[in-house]
Formats: sequence, structure tokens, C-alpha cells
Amino acid sequence: MPLSVREIGGQQVPAFRNAAFSAVIQECESLLLGLVGAPTGSRVVFLTASGTAAMEAVVLNLNFPTGQVSVVNGGSFGQRFVDIAQCHGIGVTEILPGSGDLSEVGMFDSLPAVDAVLVNVHETSTGVLYDLTQSASFCRQRDTLHVVDAISMFLTDPLDMTRDAIDALIISSHKGLALAPGLSMVVLSPKAQHRLEANPKTYYAPFSSYLRDGLRGQTPFTPAVGIVLQLQVRLREIMIRGISHELERAKQCASYFRAKCNRWPVRLYSNHMPNAMTALSPTDGRKAWQIVHDLETQFGIYVAANGGALADTVFRVAHMGDQTETHLDNLIQALDTYYAK
Ligand SMILES: *Cc1c(COP(=O)(O)O)cnc(C)c1O
Repeated sequence: MPLSVREIGGQQVPAFRNAAFSAVIQECESLLLGLVGAPTGSRVVFLTASGTAAMEAVVLNLNFPTGQVSVVNGGSFGQRFVDIAQCHGIGVTEILPGSGDLSEVGMFDSLPAVDAVLVNVHETSTGVLYDLTQSASFCRQRDTLHVVDAISMFLTDPLDMTRDAIDALIISSHKGLALAPGLSMVVLSPKAQHRLEANPKTYYAPFSSYLRDGLRGQTPFTPAVGIVLQLQVRLREIMIRGISHELERAKQCASYFRAKCNRWPVRLYSNHMPNAMTALSPTDGRKAWQIVHDLETQFGIYVAANGGALADTVFRVAHMGDQTETHLDNLIQALDTYYAK
């Protein structure tokens, strides 16, 4: 987390039902719309919730007349979209990206009529960044809603709602934005706003109420005030330096770290890695979760373990937020020591 963001975390949380805080929400909305290439007329819903709640809120708020959606299921976050849809009685046709990517020709050709395609553009469990060209053109041709969870690639990898015909874009505070967890944003294109359920089966998150209150810079229920203030500072800094500076920083960190990886008995797990993180697989029989545990207990360094079937085979190194090569040097040194033992 940048120092400027951490400093706000230590300050008093102000009153928010007033003009001063409304101005903050409105500024955050307009800065966000600019950063994601949102088409004219797009709006932002600010939810006090983690990313999964935003995924669920999107599914509950969009109107699916045929009751059928398609989900790109390439890992645990794709599976989460499948589970959310099924939990609410929506039929799911899964797209299983075989080679790991979505660029394989014809992946969308045999899809039945669906109301939406749901995809986590960076499948964070395996470190695969999808190419959205085909899902975008499918959605354009069939007038289908394109729902994209960009939680773990916003600010580290290029993202453009207009180019990729994205109708509902999901972002959270605690990945590339590197703010405290607890705030999620859903950016809705004009097309998505026209296809909102009139009576969504959610009391807490009916998007139409959020959009209405958002016009005057407010939310129906108490927002994550402190995190919204962190967001304002972060977005302002990004606007001053330019988003390309953010993308370049992540790219530099990723390539700096990956260039060192041949020193240890590990291999890159995916051929379509984002700048956001590096997914590694041990090649010497060591368990991935054991390496994660040892780095924490022996060196005080935190990398991410995987759950379920990948617990033994994959661990992940983030390049999000305010990471620098100095941070990575600490990890590199620790891994050198670890493997020299
Ligand atoms: C982290 C993440 C989420 C959100 O998870 P929460 O724990 O609910 O914040 C959703 N989708 C992707 C792709 C993620 O990486």
C-alpha cells in the first residue's frame, strides 16, 4: 500500500452524509470511468463488500430473460461465478479454456443462446490472463451482456471497457488498487443499465437505488468511508502520473522477478501470465504450500498459497500495488537462501 493511502487509514473517519463526502464519491466515479475506458453514460456502483459480493450483486441485478448464462471456468474464480449463478437458479453453460487461454479459435462458436457471458479476465488461481477479443465479439454479435471481473488485473494490465465491449466491470479495493479490503466497484455501461432487473432479489444491493443515490454522491447504506477516501487519493495520484506508469511498474516488477526464476527448481505455471502476479510450480517435489509456509516463518515474507487441488503444485507472487524491485530483492534473496540449504 502506498504511504499516502496508509496515512489515511490512520486518520479520523469523517461524517459522510454531507456535500463534502458527496464530492469525494463523485470525483471517484468520474476518475474511475476514465481509467477503465468506460463508454459515455456509464456509471459506478460503490458497494461496501468484498469482490465476491460484487460478483453476486451483478448476477442478481442483471435481467436474464432466458435464465441462461455462460461462464468461462478456468479455475476457482470461474467456478465461483458458476456457483453464484447456480445458487440463484440460473442455468450455466461452461466454457473450459483448454490451453489456458481464450484465444483458441471457435471457443464461442457452439454456445447456445445465453443472456450474458461471465469471465474473470485474470483467473487469479492459476495466473492466466484471458484475451477478451472473442468473448467481446460474441457479445457484440448476439447482443449479449459481457460481465467481466477485472479485480486482479485493474492497474497492472491494460483494460478497456469500450474496446472489449464490457457491460459490467467488477473491481475491488484490495488487489491492484492496494487499498484496505471492503470496497468494491461495479462499472455499468449504458447497455447494462438498460438491462437491470426491475425487482432484483437483493435487499442490500439493488443497483438502481445505488445509481439514483449516486447522482448526488451518496449510497443507500453506510459506505466504507475510510476506503473511499483512500480511493480518492490513489486515483488522483494515478491521474497525475498516468495509468501507463502503473502498468509499466507492474510489468517491470513481473519481468524482473521472472528473469530470476531459473535459479530455483520452479517453473512458470502459465503461458498467459498477467503483469499482476507470477504463478510458480515447484519442480523438485517440494510442496507449494510448504514453500509458502517456510517463507513466512523463516523469512517473514508472504506469498500466496493455492487451495484445493493446486495446494501442492502452485504458489503465487504478486506484483500489485506499490511493489518495487527492492521488495522483490528480499524475496529473491530469501529463495536463494532457502534453496541453498
Ligand atoms: C480476489 C478476487 C475476487 C474477490 O474475492 P474476495 O475475497 O471476495 O474479495 C474475485 N475475483 C477475482 C478474480 C479475484 O482475484
